[in-house]
Amino acid sequence: MQYNVAELLKGPAGATRQFEIAEEPEFALEAARMLGPLSGSVRIMRTQDGVLAEVQVSVSIEAQCSRCLRSVPTDLEVRFADEYRPTIDIRTGFRIWPLPGEEPDEELVIGDDHVLRLDEAVRQELEAAVPVQMLCREACAGLCPRCGQDLNEGSCQCEPEQDARWQALRDALGQAATD
Ligand SMILES: [Zn+2]
Ligand SMILES: [Zn+2]
Repeated sequence: MQYNVAELLKGPAGATRQFEIAEEPEFALEAARMLGPLSGSVRIMRTQDGVLAEVQVSVSIEAQCSRCLRSVPTDLEVRFADEYRPTIDIRTGFRIWPLPGEEPDEELVIGDDHVLRLDEAVRQELEAAVPVQMLCREACAGLCPRCGQDLNEGSCQCEPEQDARWQALRDALGQAATD
């Protein structure tokens, strides 16, 4: 997702270019595996100070059910908008930004080559959009915490979990009965 915005930067504020996104991601996600290409669109508009990129991206992913650990396919979609600023005036070639003393957000800088790179922003947005508690289905029974049996496929031979406080009380009563 790289867009040369040199022509846009030469144009008036409000000028707009639209691009389709249909490409294999050049990054990986930590929380999920991507199953296919990125698709969507980018609308880039010249602003007073730089360009505003409005991005819409979707991708199919596979994440783990947080109860039974099975792979669950799902679709992610993110929409976001960021304004990016050029470091060099496209007409004069002078460095215009950042000014001395300014600490720019590196990700919101258009490179000296006038190329807008959106991969890192898209990666961060997708990463944040992966559901934290993914379930294969609402009623997923999960795994037995003792033997690891997938309880969706049938129950196991383990005793049901006993509440530790009741167990302590039973122990105390048992102790009293034998005294
Ligand atoms: Zn599950
Ligand atoms: Zn079990």
